[in-house]
Parts: sequence; C-alpha cells; structure tokens
Amino acid sequence: MNPFSASATPGAAGQDAAFQPTLLLVDDEPRLLSSLYELLRGHGYQLVTASTGAEALAHLSRLRFDLVLLDLRLPDIGGHAIMDFINEKGVGADVIVMSGEVGIEAAIGALKRGAYDYLRKPYSREELLKTVANALRQRGLEQANRRIAIQLENSEKMYRYLVDSSPDIIYTLNHEGRFTFINDRAYQLLGYRRDELLGQHYSVVVHEEDLERARYVFNERRVDERAARNVELRLKCHSATGTGHERTFNNTLMTISLNAIGMHVPDQDVRKLEFFGTYGVARDITDRKRAEEVISYQAYHDILTDLPNRILFKDRLGLAVIQAKRKQAELAVMFIDLDRFKLVNDTLGHVKGDELLQQVAARLKECLRRGDTLARQGGDEFTIVLPELRHRDDARDVADKFLACLHEPFDLDGHQVHISASIGIAVYPGHGESIDELLRHADIAMYQVKGQGKNGHAFYDPSMQEVSHQKIALEQSLRRALEHGELEMYYQPQVDAAEGRIVGVEALMRWNHPTRGVVSPGEFLPFAEENGLMIPISDWMIGALCRDMLQWKGCGGGNVRLSLNLSPQYLDRGDFFEKMRGALLRHGIAPSQIEVEITENVCIRNPQHAIEQLNRLGQLGVSVAIDDFGTGYSSLAYLHRFPVHTIKIDQSFVKEIHDEHGHYPVILAIISIARGLGLNLVAEGVETEVQARYLRANGCLTMQGYLYHRPMPLGRFVDVLRAQGLPAIAGHAFAFQA
Ligand code: C2E
Ligand code: CA
Ligand code: CA
Repeated sequence: MNPFSASATPGAAGQDAAFQPTLLLVDDEPRLLSSLYELLRGHGYQLVTASTGAEALAHLSRLRFDLVLLDLRLPDIGGHAIMDFINEKGVGADVIVMSGEVGIEAAIGALKRGAYDYLRKPYSREELLKTVANALRQRGLEQANRRIAIQLENSEKMYRYLVDSSPDIIYTLNHEGRFTFINDRAYQLLGYRRDELLGQHYSVVVHEEDLERARYVFNERRVDERAARNVELRLKCHSATGTGHERTFNNTLMTISLNAIGMHVPDQDVRKLEFFGTYGVARDITDRKRAEEVISYQAYHDILTDLPNRILFKDRLGLAVIQAKRKQAELAVMFIDLDRFKLVNDTLGHVKGDELLQQVAARLKECLRRGDTLARQGGDEFTIVLPELRHRDDARDVADKFLACLHEPFDLDGHQVHISASIGIAVYPGHGESIDELLRHADIAMYQVKGQGKNGHAFYDPSMQEVSHQKIALEQSLRRALEHGELEMYYQPQVDAAEGRIVGVEALMRWNHPTRGVVSPGEFLPFAEENGLMIPISDWMIGALCRDMLQWKGCGGGNVRLSLNLSPQYLDRGDFFEKMRGALLRHGIAPSQIEVEITENVCIRNPQHAIEQLNRLGQLGVSVAIDDFGTGYSSLAYLHRFPVHTIKIDQSFVKEIHDEHGHYPVILAIISIARGLGLNLVAEGVETEVQARYLRANGCLTMQGYLYHRPMPLGRFVDVLRAQGLPAIAGHAFAFQA
C-alpha cells in the first residue's frame, strides 16, 4: 500500500517554479506501474502510485491531485467508477485514461466522464510525456483564468461598492448621451430611481438655463487633462410627489461640479479607438454655493440696514451710467447725510443710533421707484442713483419726498427723535460723466446744504467746487498754523451798561492766515473738531490766555473777568481739568477771574462727565456760562444740574430788537429765568443804542457787542484798559441786578 513517491525537480516545463503538480498513477500491473513511475520521475512532478481501484480512491479522498493517469481495467473497481467518484466528489483532478482495451465504448465512456485524453497501451514514451505536459499546462491556464475571474469579480464588487457609497454621483452615458449606469447616490441626491434614469437622455436632469454649458461636458470626448473639469451646473431634482417618496426636496435645484471624460474602445480592426460614451463624476456643491452666495451678499451689502454697500452701489452706478450714455439720457446721484445724527448717537448711545439708521433706511426705501438704488456709504451717509431721469425736476421731487418722509419723528423705544437730512444731487452728464466725479460732486453739493443750515437739497454747481477747494486747502494749512504761530487770541470787552465800565472780556480766536488775512473761528474751528486738531488748539489757547492775562493785569485790568470758549471735545477729555488747573497755577491766575463758556450741546452729549468736570472747576472757583442761550434743544433742566453762573443771551434774539418800547418775549423770558435762578446775564451782539436801552430797561445790564467794542488784539485791548483807567471791580460786579 505504501506508494513510492519521488520528489520533484523544480522548473518543469510549462510550470512556474513554485508549482509542483501532483500526479496519481493507477495500474494493476506492477511492471507497467513502475515503468510509468520511472518514466515520469525527474520531471518535477510529485508522484503517487496505486495498484488497485480501492487504493486509488483512498488516495483521491485524502490527497489533492492535479492529474490522474488511470488504467481503465482494474481488478476491484473499474476506471469508469473511479472517474465517477472524481466527478461526484468534485476532486478537481484531470484524468488521462490509459487502456489496452480496443473497444471504442470504453474510450467514449472515459471521454464522457470528462477525461482529458485517452492513451492506448502500449503508448510511446514521448506521447505520454507530451500528453501529461499538455494536460498540466492547460490545467495551469484554467486555474489562472479562474483566479483572474475571481479577482475580476472581487474588483468589480469593490468598485461597485466604492461607486455606490461615493458621496458623488457617478454615471456613464452612451454615445447618444443616454444613461447606461448611474450610482445609488443619484437617488439620494436627486430623487430619481435608477430605472427612471437608465436609458434617459442626460438633459432630463439638467436645468434649462444650463443646457448649453451641459452639452460640452456631457459630450466630453477627451480623456486627457483637457477634459472637462469642475464645470458647475444645476440639476433638477425629482419633484417629490405623494407616491411614497420618503425624501422631500425643498429646493428643486442642485448645483454640481462635474468632471467628465470620454470612453473609447478599439474599432473593428483595432487600429483606431472608437468613442462610445462618457463617464463622469458630479459633486453636490449646493451648500458651498449657498455659503458663497451668503458671503458675496455680505460683501456687497451693509449688514446693519441690509442695503447695498458702497461697492455694490458703485457697480450699479457704473451700469446706470453706461445705460444712460447709450440712451443719451440723464441720471441723478444723490448724497444724503443725516443732520445731527452724531448728537443722537452721543446722547442715546450706539444701539439707538443703529436703530435710527435702520428706521431711516426703511423710510428712504419706501420712497424709491423700481430701478432706483439706495445704498449706505457708511455712518449716516446714504447714496441713491436714479437711473433714466426724465427731467431734473424728478430728482428734486424725489429729494423732497426723502426730506418729507424723514420729517415725522422717529420712535426709539419711547424716545421721540427728530432728524433731518442734507441732500446733494449731481446729474449725469451735466455734473460729471464718471462715477467718482458724480459721487464727489453730489458730496460737495451736500456739504453746501450743510453749510447753509441743513435740512434741504441742492444740485451741484461748479461754484461749489471753488468753496470746497478752499475748504480743503484751509484744512491742510490749519495743521501748520499751530506750528507757525499763526493763531492769536482777540478780546472783546463786556461792558456794564449803567456805568460804561469794562467788567469782563471774552477771548475769541483768530487765525492770521498768510494769504487770506484774518480768518474767523467759525471758518476753521469746525475742521479742527473733525480732524482732531481741537485738542492741541485748545491747549495752545489756555497757555496763550494765561500769558496775555498777565500783561493786562498790570494795566488796570486786574479784576476784569476772562471768558473763554470751551470746545465740547476738550471738555470730554479726562485731563481737561488738570490742564486748566495747572495752567492757572503756573501763571498765578486766580480761578475766580475765569469763566468758561459752554453751549447747551455740551450738556447733552455726555452729561454725567460734563457735570463732574464743571463741578470740579466750580470747586476751584472758575465760573460757568451758558453760551448762545435759547438756541439749543434741551430746555431748562440742565440749569439745575450744572454749576452755571451766567447765561448769555444769544445775538439772534438781540438782533430782533428794533423798537425800544416793543415786546420781545424770548428776551423777557430769558431775563426772568436768570432772575429766578439768581444767574448773571450777558447780552451778546449788541449793535445799536435801541438794543442796549431795551435790554437795560428790562434788567440786563452787561453788554457785549460792536456798539461798545469789536474783538481786538491784545495790544489794543491793553490800550483800551489803560485809557479807561478803570478801578478794580469785584468778581460779581456784573451780576444780575433786579
Ligand atoms: P460765540 O462764543 O457766540 O462768540 C460770539 C461771536 O459773536 C464772536 O464771533 C464775536 O466776534 C461775534 N460778535 C460779538 N459782538 C458782535 C456784534 O455786535 N455783532 C455781530 N454780528 N457779531 C458779534 P467769532 O469771534 O467769529 O466767534 C465765533 C464762534 O467761534 C464763537 O461764538 C465761539 O463759539 C467760537 N470761538 C471763538 N473763539 C473760540 C475759542 O477760542 N475757542 C473755542 N472753543 N471756540 C471759539
Ligand atoms: Ca462765546
Ligand atoms: Ca455766543
């Protein structure tokens, strides 16, 4: 029973080095079996022998064979029966039948059972070796094929898995553009079942507006890097019907980014490649697109008011200009600036200020016609373009409408706020042909309105340009004025009307401009407020006043009180008080000789801080006067809250006085307020005897005005003091006298 076996020599013909075929040799004639064994030995095969059918079956059930050389006629079990066993048990070995039998029946029986070949005994050595080698080579090929088939199947499965679980839509189209494959993702993203799409033309899923662009990608024939990449298209989602679609599509369009390449197969004679379709990958970029839209919306809109911002405005204006040029029409650009917005912002705070801007934007929007663009430039500035103006009066009408719509008070959580606007208008092409020119000129016109009392509108006029140029030049040279010592303090005496004596003096600033001569503060101080020069200018003023005072003290003005005008910005600064005190101390000036003039606005802006600062001044001995009394918004409330000593009747009220025996209720009211509160009173801008007599008759005894003195330089003021040879005057000599 013990089979003789032989170890194989490597490198047998037709086999790779690692493969050593195992052969089972079955013959009941010992001589034949051993000669067969000898014949095959040394060819790299592993050989097992069996001399009975039973022995062969035992080997077959136990070992794995590649090839069986089988004698058909065996004493116990026949060769056919062994082949049946091989087939039934799926042993998988090939069989070469060897038989001395002449009968064709036996041969047919063997071949029917799947024998690889049939060798008649006696066989030639070569024939046998060749047949064995062929059988093993064929077997090797079949096995390799099977392996490849399995590998293919596996890789097909893998690709299928990858394709179906891809986050992207993957498809193939045939040469006509009809779907031949589409992955599961299409259903999840678009809502089409696979069978709804297969065979359909791609155009059924493409948004109509994108069909043109889609044609190129979906017909892509190129396969190289020039093939369509990242083409953005919109696909139509399946409209969700009530037919059991569990997915609902709230947006009917999906934006994709598509990559596609052509598919080609060799043609009949394998010499050329033939186009047979495309395959592509589509990525859902809807979310990204939406995010991009949001970002770009934010880039072109003002977040607070939701209006277009200045970038978008310029864009729209640019288009409007092109159109107007083509149609030879006019268009209008408006620059709107809110009056007194800063005051609201400072008084009520930024939150309320923002709210006001939103309400203003909403009201302005209501006045617009279709096609008009309203934008926020920033701050409290708005711009508007009115394209295709039929007539300039149209622009005027719109501007009037804007002003009217702002007229009604705004309600900011119970605060009634009144606001107005200054509107500048520039018309294309008359006032400018470029965007920048139109905007600039509308801006200049707006400033003109501001300068003339606000709350109105004006069309641009080239003469405004001159004014604005002057302003710009002034602003620039103001910076140098301080360094070059071009500022100077002038003094305007305040006179006791009964006795004609000088009891006080108001310090007024002048700018000795190198080319324009003496410039009055109304022309340059507003600029100083805007560009931060107010602080250094005020610092300079305090120093200059102290130095000047020392000069006139020795000339009979020892007890003349000095009134100085205090800029709100200066008062706002935390170090104001220390600066003031330091300067007085350094120059040895008694605080009781100083009075600061503030306007009512100062009190509204930052009341708590203002009260603190003024109280500290009061404790020091400095008194406080309310300048331009009666012209501000706030009424009398602050008179209680602030340490006020003096009120100055504004010159606009004094100017009204033409009749000595007339009745001027505002003046009378102010006089009685001062009397009631025990405050000093100074009338400003007194120019005529009539005014002086009326004021005096009604109880205002201290006067300031051209009737007595104009503001004058220090030298002249000293002369005036000397000429009068004034005796000393007590601090409160010019207090209100009943
Ligand atoms: P204000 O404090 O109301 O000053 C009174 C203005 O009326 C002065 O104008 C003065 O020259 C003018 N005036 C005086 N008497 C008469 C008159 O009889 N008739 C007419 N028509 N006008 C008269 P000015 O000097 O141009 O000053 C204008 C404003 O500039 C002042 O108004 C004040 O608010 C501000 N200002 C002047 N000097 C200073 C300063 O040194 N510092 C600060 N912060 N502001 C100043
Ligand atoms: Ca004043
Ligand atoms: Ca005044």
